[in-house]
Amino acid sequence: GAGNSAASRDKAYFLHPYTNLHAHETQGPLIIERGEGVRVFDDSGKEYIEGLASLWCVSLGWGEERLVEAATRQMRKLPTYHVFGHKSHEPGIDLAERLIKLAPVPMSKVFFANSGSEANDTAVKLVWYYNNALGRPEKKKILSRVKAYHGVTVATASLTGLVNNHRDFDLPIARIQHTDCPHHYRFAEPGESEEDFATRLAESLEALILAEGPDTIAAMFAEPVMGAGGVIVPPATYFAKIQPILKKYDILLVADEVICGFGRTGNFWGSKTMGMEPDILTCAKQLSSGYLPISAVMVSDAVYRACVEESKKIGTFGHGYTYSAHPVAAAVAIETLKIYEERDLVGHVRAVAPLFQRRLKALADHPLVGEARGVGLIGALELVADKETKTPFDPVGRAGAVVNGLSQENGLIIRAMGDSVAVCPPLVIGEEDINLMFDRLTTALDAAIPVLRG
Ligand code: PLP
Repeated sequence: GAGNSAASRDKAYFLHPYTNLHAHETQGPLIIERGEGVRVFDDSGKEYIEGLASLWCVSLGWGEERLVEAATRQMRKLPTYHVFGHKSHEPGIDLAERLIKLAPVPMSKVFFANSGSEANDTAVKLVWYYNNALGRPEKKKILSRVKAYHGVTVATASLTGLVNNHRDFDLPIARIQHTDCPHHYRFAEPGESEEDFATRLAESLEALILAEGPDTIAAMFAEPVMGAGGVIVPPATYFAKIQPILKKYDILLVADEVICGFGRTGNFWGSKTMGMEPDILTCAKQLSSGYLPISAVMVSDAVYRACVEESKKIGTFGHGYTYSAHPVAAAVAIETLKIYEERDLVGHVRAVAPLFQRRLKALADHPLVGEARGVGLIGALELVADKETKTPFDPVGRAGAVVNGLSQENGLIIRAMGDSVAVCPPLVIGEEDINLMFDRLTTALDAAIPVLRG
């Protein structure tokens, strides 16, 4: 009977992450059954282009047999083992070596975790441990930015600069400070150039550091391109202006490459695209094409050596996860990295990104779109009630949800973030599917006009 349908069992038992729980009680789930290439199919057989690569992660699309085989081989050989207390295994060693060789700047060591949140949480702890090692226990505050997304653990939700992640969770915790969001369209003064905007933000950062006291600030976290905050590409000179200030006050830079890593922006790392030279780099998602949970934290030699000195004094580095460097996840990540290299996936992204960006930016002319922004194979549309005045729709979030729902009806999965919608397809997408994706998105936008303006 109806009580046994997957949808009714979902409503009966399943507490969904990132979901309007009240709406879910009436609306129920969209049940995805299988995937093939850049497409997924629901339990009625309906086809969708996955325009967000699940959650910004399925770089190789669905049905990549080599990843299935890599997992199966490792499952048979050594399905699980830990790496605490000097234990190790070949998949963990091999993946660490590969990542160090791929790093955008010289890095020394890799720590493994299971999610982007855990990688960033680890980076927070490493920053604190490092400053204890250097005998400056007061240098512990961490800077992040308004609209940043760094995860949902207590510390990383605090770094995240979005109200949903703070309100009702009593966050942020102490010692976290948010500086300006580098979104020119929203936050520039009238007539201010991108260059002048970046200069002003760098000055504002320095003012914050001086107000807090440079001796109290340990690190700044930054996504090269902000993802969940609305796909915000900073001005070209932003990091060039920010980094000397961090260096001046001996503040570490942590690059959160959880979305940008592994080709998304048209270079292997977003740090390369945006000119970042991080001391610590975190990555996840496309590391395994999302097939299994795994994340990594790379640290510079200076950070690593200080941590070794601290460990000499106090003993064990007291942090790690049961599944750090899980051998099956590591084997899948190694195979993923091999595929990236063999198929020159970054080359593919560079080849198709011009079409993707042309189709995206053409939508800036749509009556509902205030800004179309992006780089490589990631982008967003910001929906506005009035293009001239940039007035947002009210209440916040409705417009994105409307376009999101109409896209889904139309065979395209994207993601709404407030008044913006994001597109971030599997990196393997071809030109024909890029065109089809934007055709479906355009149809959804047109259908949204009477709903939002009606
Ligand atoms: N950092 C960034 C930039 C992210 O986009 C995400 C997730 O979307 C995270 C961290 C958190 O990763 P996870 O959801 O795997 O904990």
